[in-house]
Amino acid sequence: MTGPVPVPTPATAPYWEGAQRGELTIQRCESCTQHYFYPRPFCPFCNSDDVVWTSVSGRARLVSYVINHRPIPPFDPTTPIIVALVELDEGPYLMSNVIGVAADPGSLPLDLELEVTFVERGDMKLPMFTPLQESAR
Ligand SMILES: [Zn+2]
Repeated sequence: MTGPVPVPTPATAPYWEGAQRGELTIQRCESCTQHYFYPRPFCPFCNSDDVVWTSVSGRARLVSYVINHRPIPPFDPTTPIIVALVELDEGPYLMSNVIGVAADPGSLPLDLELEVTFVERGDMKLPMFTPLQESAR
């Protein structure tokens, strides 16, 4: 999939390094045990700075989405993109793309079970989501 290549910042580097290894990596608070996303140095639930990076299951459900039928470059303007809000099994919401399914509302029921997959773009790998395979349920 064509598109802009992410540029890690010090705050987001562990997320992108995890993706390079094929792991979805987010932060968890050691004080209250909540996972959270986006990356930040303090827990948004209890304000503790005792936070760690951890790999999560990559399982999620579809919360909401929009289909962009006419993406602008550097995306391929002839290929619709599903921009999705997903809820990870661990709790946090994440904006991502759903791939491997028709860009059609009939293929995108809310609560659709998803799993993370990694898509190469430039020298990066981007976490995206695809419908959970029957064999994995
Ligand atoms: Zn906390």
